[in-house]
Amino acid sequence: MNTNQSRIVVIGGGVIGASSAYFLREAGFRVTLIEKATFGSGCSHGNCGLICPSDALPLASPGAIGKTLKTLFKRHNPLYIKPRVSMRLWFWLAKFALRCNQRHMLQAASARMPLLESSLHLYQKILEAEQMECEWQKNGLLYVYKDADAMEGYAATDQFLTEHFSLAAERFDACGLYELEPAIADEVAGGWYYEDDAHLRPDRLMAEWKRVLLEQDVEIREETEVFKFKRKGIKATGVLTRDGIIEADKFVLAVGAISPQWEKEIGADIPIQPGKGYSLTFPRPQYSPRIPMIFPQHRVVMTPMLSGYRLGSTMEFSGYDSRINRRRINLLKTGAEPYLREPYGDHVEEEWFGWRPMIYHGIPIVDTSPRMDNVLVATGHNMLGLSMGPATGKLVSELISGEPTHVPSRPYQLLH
Ligand SMILES: Cc1cc2nc3c(=O)[nH]c(=O)nc-3n(C[C@H](O)[C@H](O)[C@H](O)COP(=O)(O)OP(=O)(O)OC[C@H]3O[C@@H](n4cnc5c(N)ncnc54)[C@H](O)[C@@H]3O)c2cc1C
Repeated sequence: MNTNQSRIVVIGGGVIGASSAYFLREAGFRVTLIEKATFGSGCSHGNCGLICPSDALPLASPGAIGKTLKTLFKRHNPLYIKPRVSMRLWFWLAKFALRCNQRHMLQAASARMPLLESSLHLYQKILEAEQMECEWQKNGLLYVYKDADAMEGYAATDQFLTEHFSLAAERFDACGLYELEPAIADEVAGGWYYEDDAHLRPDRLMAEWKRVLLEQDVEIREETEVFKFKRKGIKATGVLTRDGIIEADKFVLAVGAISPQWEKEIGADIPIQPGKGYSLTFPRPQYSPRIPMIFPQHRVVMTPMLSGYRLGSTMEFSGYDSRINRRRINLLKTGAEPYLREPYGDHVEEEWFGWRPMIYHGIPIVDTSPRMDNVLVATGHNMLGLSMGPATGKLVSELISGEPTHVPSRPYQLLH
């Protein structure tokens, strides 16, 4: 570890803030992490736990608008946009629509892939080096289809990922799939398998991040909301909290879906909408699948963890609404039913929602504030924050240290 005595404040105790604090500390900085609630209690708590470079394509893709419009007003659609007057939301949707083409899809995937690949590698390294117990399993990821047409439709995606990123899936018909994963129901059409993806238990990961950071003398202040920056010219000198001002030399703003509230402070647009998703956690079933699965036709994810079993997903654009909608959370169960012999258990251990930091183009932001040149913003990881966490943290540390970056930093600049 270097002995750089500069002090850094990281705002936000999610997977992005935690990873940033880790690499900054490794680079020798003195680090304080400030979290308004408890460490790891935001979107990084109950997500599906997939570490999945295979999911590199952004939501904004050719045909996405047509597909969305066809199903938007259906009662059981996992995507829901709450009708409301919000210029911000409508601008976001318009910009999203303009990105639904091949060129922008490739641009976004090319930006996401280095963070995804690097993170997969870094997870393996860090979890081993720090002996972090978070139920890491490298069993791959299956995309399972109920209908033959939809199964066939994925061939174009497979070809695209193979051609541009050498990321080829293995194709299984129903029989082959059943041999690979006997927990799958008889009626499915088949699936595509990415053997290099991994998964873990996110709440355990966050608990382990906390342990490791504390062991490394990172100061963690929980239940401490940051209200604003204290500024002198183009530098921030501290952050204002209920307990007074906390001073530092440099700052990282990693507040996930809440980021747009900081636009004025940082002096730039942060085109993020909270994309609400739900998860249900059950005890591990008797015949638990081994491989996590995505059911793209129902947009549900199933994650078999060592100590539990999770169904997750849905995408709701309803602002910062913190209510749990029972009808929508039940879509997780009905969405898993056609695919699995034992899709869920009777006893729900945890019912959860999180706001994904959904940026319309799908490319995260890791960049300096135009208003304060010692404040770095790290946000907008959409549906893949867990999968891109470690590489984002490493990039944050490299940018703050002024070192060469291990992935190109240009794609993640503010204002695209
Ligand atoms: C249902 C669901 C399933 C998902 N599944 C996956 C998956 O399988 N794989 C994957 O890669 N990603 C997945 N994601 C996405 C992933 O969870 C997010 O991208 C990621 O957690 C975002 O991390 P973050 O650190 O940016 O935000 P958060 O985890 O939300 O952390 C931000 C933190 O900042 C704190 N904060 C906010 N404002 C302040 C303030 N003013 N002062 C101090 N603290 C503040 C918040 O309290 C919060 O703890 C899923 C998301 C959902 C909802």
